[in-house]
Amino acid sequence: MHYPCRQEACFPVEVLQLDVSGRPQAWLSPREAALLYASDAVAWTLGEPFAVLRGGIQRRTGLQSRIEVHPIVAVRGAVPSRAWRQVPSLSNAKLFARDRLICAYCGGRCAPDDLTREHIVPTSRGGGDSWMNCITACRSCNGRKGSRMLQECSMELLYLPYVPSLHEDMILRGRRIVADQMEFLLASVPSHSRLHG
Ligand SMILES: [Zn+2]
Repeated sequence: MHYPCRQEACFPVEVLQLDVSGRPQAWLSPREAALLYASDAVAWTLGEPFAVLRGGIQRRTGLQSRIEVHPIVAVRGAVPSRAWRQVPSLSNAKLFARDRLICAYCGGRCAPDDLTREHIVPTSRGGGDSWMNCITACRSCNGRKGSRMLQECSMELLYLPYVPSLHEDMILRGRRIVADQMEFLLASVPSHSRLHG
């Protein structure tokens, strides 16, 4: 099935896919979401439709098929019980977004190109590559700390690391999040998250 989508090029909003119980699963292109509608896999939706995709002529009615795409769609099917306990994967882009592009040592706000993934306990000293051991640092602070422990270089963290929740992870991953989606996701983000700050 093919859905040519003129809107997609000029309106690259993504669709937030949930499971039927409302847990976030993925960001989809409007075209991918249209396939869910077409295969009757959408259980419920939230928000006003933001795109209308037009497909082929339906043989039975002679009319062109038309699918309204909502910003949030929940898909039918069993809820995977493990999904809720999964720790979101770590990437530089998401780490920098969690830490709001601010160096944890000097407090400077930098462009992503000037930021680094800093290991609080250096990997050479047994530190893991995990959300709790990684923090955002500018290049010069990262270089200054080197492979030393905090107490060895008298440097202090201005804020602490944490593991993002599943809802927060979806915000960190989203490229362009519309109001309906942000409202839905933020409602489930813990109050300690820096996204509320
Ligand atoms: Zn710095």
